[in-house]
Amino acid sequence: MSEEARKIGIDFQKCIKAGECYYNHPDLFGPTENGFPMLRKREAGSASDIREVSEAIEVCPSGAITLS
Ligand code: SF4
Repeated sequence: MSEEARKIGIDFQKCIKAGECYYNHPDLFGPTENGFPMLRKREAGSASDIREVSEAIEVCPSGAITLS
C-alpha cells in the first residue's frame, strides 16, 4: 500500500443492501447475488478514488462504508 492509499471497507453488519454504492459508483463497488456490495478496489490510491469513496459514504444510508 502506498503512503497515500487508504483502505476501503464495508461493514456487512451495518449494510442494509440499499445498493446506492454500486448504482452510483460502479467502478468501486459491484453488486452480488445476495444484494450485498463487493469491493472492486480495496484501496483508494488516487485523489479521484478518495473523492468517489467519500461520495459513496455520503449516500450510503447505513454508514457501512469506511475509508481508513
Ligand atoms: S450503499 Fe451502504 S447500505 Fe447500500 S449496499 Fe452500499 S454499503 Fe450497503
